[in-house]
Amino acid sequence: MRDTPSLVIQTSFLGDVVLTTPLLRRLAARGPVTVVTTAAAAPLLAGHPDVARLVPYDKRGADAGISGFVRLTRSIATNNPDAVAYLAQGSHRSGALARAAGYRTRVGFATSAGRLWYTESIDGLEGWHHAERLWRLGGNDRPPTPGDLQPTLVPSAADVEAAEAMLRGASASAGSLVALAPGSVWGTKRWPHYAELAAALAPRRVAVVGAAADATIAAQVVGRAPNAIDATGKLPLLATAALLARCQAIVTNDSLPLHLASAMNTPTVAIFGPTVPGFGFGPLAARRAIVEHSDMPCRPCHSHGPPTCPLGHFRCMQELTVARVAAAVDEVTA
Ligand code: SF4
Repeated sequence: MRDTPSLVIQTSFLGDVVLTTPLLRRLAARGPVTVVTTAAAAPLLAGHPDVARLVPYDKRGADAGISGFVRLTRSIATNNPDAVAYLAQGSHRSGALARAAGYRTRVGFATSAGRLWYTESIDGLEGWHHAERLWRLGGNDRPPTPGDLQPTLVPSAADVEAAEAMLRGASASAGSLVALAPGSVWGTKRWPHYAELAAALAPRRVAVVGAAADATIAAQVVGRAPNAIDATGKLPLLATAALLARCQAIVTNDSLPLHLASAMNTPTVAIFGPTVPGFGFGPLAARRAIVEHSDMPCRPCHSHGPPTCPLGHFRCMQELTVARVAAAVDEVTA
């Protein structure tokens, strides 16, 4: 069956977009899939085989306001009565957009703010990985297999070449590299011991990945590991994914690189502090380990992670030792 067109609206964080790819694969088996996503996230899905049409939505910029809404509505409008809209992002605006664009069937989460716009709602989300929650938007009739939930990203030839050029430039042999992703938008999600870890991982070589905004933290890490490769802010998103595919493992906070690694099946050590894997955003790579403080009553203290520890001691991260994280690296690479 390849005749049911789908619209997926996913304008959440970049990691959520990666975790939407199992749903996209499921829907692409039914018909062409149009995806509306943020301008920042659109490059993640460029050239993705499960996306027939990609519509960037700059909701706070060029597409802001009523005129942007109307323009986007016209762009994705359908008169096909079988077309289905999936509201992976649950705002009123996304629900209203799908309705205004003519999608008679609109599926979303029962807990979403925009649920009044939906014709079908999925509930019982507790305990599911977010990839599973999103996948179940496509039908809640059976549990997924592990393969159903594997995110996918498809770097272009240019992305792969950008990553390879960086490795060549650093005379790095990819198989022995460990990627470190020390950044996060949320302050308390940043494990504070990456620089010491970089030194402790010697003679393994490290590659620091992240956004341009992570440059200061990356410099601290590179300062402790003189032969480190600093890729922060130097590669497009999919080229970073291509670089991760060439790494032996990654050590990451609860942030975007964790999900890029899941999509590339890079063995993953994920460090959780103020958040917990039970929120649904743990690693999905086949070889993975989670490092966290298992007996702190203040965890979790925030859905994302506050800028600073409200209790002042930041023990949830401070007390996760370099030795413990290094042992987890050994575990996922054994
Ligand atoms: S309150 Fe607890 S969980 Fe939150 S940042 Fe501080 S130590 Fe971590």
